[in-house]
Amino acid sequence: MNLSKHIDSANNAFKDWRKVPFEDRQKLLINLADVLEKNKEKFAKTITTEMHKPISQAIAEIEKSAGMIKYYAAAENILKPEKIKTEFSVSEVHYEAMGIILGVMPWNFPFWQVLRFAIPAILAGNVVILKHASICFGSGDEIELAFKEAGFPEYVFKNLRIGHNEIKEILENPLVRGVSLTGSEKAGGSVAALAGKNIKKSVLELGGSDAFIVLEDSDFEKAAKDGPWAKLQNTGQICNAAKRFIVHKDVEKDFVPRFIEEYNSYQPADPMKKETKLGKMARPDLADELENQYKKALKNGAEVVLALERISENEFRPGIILVKEGNPILQEELFGPLAILMIGKNDEEILKLANDIPFGLGNSVWTRDKKRAQFFIENLESGTVSINKATSSDTRLPFGGAKSSGYGVELSLHALKEFTQVKTVVGN
Ligand code: NDP
Repeated sequence: MNLSKHIDSANNAFKDWRKVPFEDRQKLLINLADVLEKNKEKFAKTITTEMHKPISQAIAEIEKSAGMIKYYAAAENILKPEKIKTEFSVSEVHYEAMGIILGVMPWNFPFWQVLRFAIPAILAGNVVILKHASICFGSGDEIELAFKEAGFPEYVFKNLRIGHNEIKEILENPLVRGVSLTGSEKAGGSVAALAGKNIKKSVLELGGSDAFIVLEDSDFEKAAKDGPWAKLQNTGQICNAAKRFIVHKDVEKDFVPRFIEEYNSYQPADPMKKETKLGKMARPDLADELENQYKKALKNGAEVVLALERISENEFRPGIILVKEGNPILQEELFGPLAILMIGKNDEEILKLANDIPFGLGNSVWTRDKKRAQFFIENLESGTVSINKATSSDTRLPFGGAKSSGYGVELSLHALKEFTQVKTVVGN
């Protein structure tokens, strides 16, 4: 593919797009939300065909994306010049669009992940080139068409059907000013290194192994009902899913049987059927990897609570393993329908278990005691702490990771500034 031709076209689009008033860009976003809502069944079908999530969850993904677009369509323009008081007659901070921003995006939410990054970047006046996961090129094309149907100029959003080996050439092109990647640590590290070498801004949203902490004074019945969904939606393939259930020893007997009962209600079925709760994994090699991690965990002393059972090349009956501190599996992300259960004897020990991993996206704590909640809020190492609810991204609130889960912010008004150049204007 002639990448430089596409980059030149995107740059031409940028020259005009950066001058379009913020409010006019917002009008086009309203159209885009409409296009998504009108086509939600069709888009959802593409998602499910490409990566096999249950169709009801694919529809919910499109609805959530449309809601997020409407949020930005109505957002306050926080990019207006800010006046600062100094001895000079003019001292202002301007936020200017940077130019072409590359999105390297994964397959787990083929519309949401792309749009979550692209919408605030585009509203800020940038243009976006997408390199989607290789199993989601159809979703990438449909997103580009949706922008077109909404009335956006060509190349404000451009999908390129390319492999990840072509990212280097894109990031070496001086017209490309930044990159946002959602995916594995390996892909993130490699793209961030390229961005660094070429002095370009990067935002990384990587893996997680978040804790779902259940204390003995909590509404453990609700926790047992919500926990399996927090783990198993999207067939367990979510960066900020609950992956480790850390339960206080005094509630183990009440919580665990209820949790298993609800967990068992998620059984793999045809992803195209609306009532299906658990789909297939995105690719057979990802299923192989999960099975290997299961074996590795057991070899290192984990106990089977519910056996992980592979029933086809990319389908499992979901499993749960009881894991103790020190098991090397705790340093890895389990991206699929396999949950970790851990038992802690007090808050300090539970906190230590929760933090003793390389990642930190969105931990969740269940307790009725505000002081205990505060202890966890202040000491958990993660981008989000959710209290008495499962963690899930909310358009109105910033989303990002700590430690190896990445850096930079998505969603909320904060995301509008991620790909802007801060320009100081000062003088008389
Ligand atoms: P990847 O991280 O490999 O894929 C995500 C995106 O990065 C894709 O567009 C992919 O392109 C691209 N990519 C892959 N390798 C490189 C590289 N070396 N340099 C630049 N870009 C790259 O995810 P996988 O599909 O391989 O999944 C592996 C694991 O990643 C999962 O098991 C999970 O742990 C984690 N993951 C996390 C996600 C999250 O939401 N944080 C989402 C998806 C995966 P291409 O498809 O062409 O390889």
